[in-house]
Amino acid sequence: MIETNKNKSLLLLSCCGPCSCAVIEKLAQEQKAFTVVFYNPNIRPYEEYRKRCDENKRVCDIYKIPFIELEYDNERWCALTKGLENEPERGARCSICFYMRLKRVMEYAKQEGCLGVASVLGVSRYKNLTQVNQAAEQASKETGVSYIEIEGRKGGMQERRMQLIKELNLYAQDYCGCTIRGDRKNDD
Ligand code: SF4
Repeated sequence: MIETNKNKSLLLLSCCGPCSCAVIEKLAQEQKAFTVVFYNPNIRPYEEYRKRCDENKRVCDIYKIPFIELEYDNERWCALTKGLENEPERGARCSICFYMRLKRVMEYAKQEGCLGVASVLGVSRYKNLTQVNQAAEQASKETGVSYIEIEGRKGGMQERRMQLIKELNLYAQDYCGCTIRGDRKNDD
């Protein structure tokens, strides 16, 4: 488990370097106090998880942002999504997956006395942002921790994300996380 110097005013749940790079850059430029949290037990196999986690930390190191890796409890993820294996991406399995990850990070935020949680789970065009926000709302109600919506798509953010993926030579995977790949060609 990786843990670097903490500044825990806001926790940013990140799924990977390519989805988070432009948001991290923007928040860093705005001198916001935040910490990136990597909690993604949905990613399989473990080697792929490790690669994405290490790459996300590399992005944080570039912008001098603290990075925390929480536990890889893939067994719990599998138990929670059991029976939903054949759901398409954006279907019922994704709602549970978003909820599980957001709730865990909110519980961590509560434990550590952080102000709130934000995420980049809805940044990719393959994701349903409403679905992410609904999962966040439910987790927020249950934990009492605020969810702060951060713009990761509009206002040039997607374009900047694409630029940074090239500039930083980021590893960009071709599937979301679980091994049900659907029709995706890449993760842009
Ligand atoms: S496609 Fe992605 S968000 Fe949906 S269940 Fe799989 S890992 Fe989670």
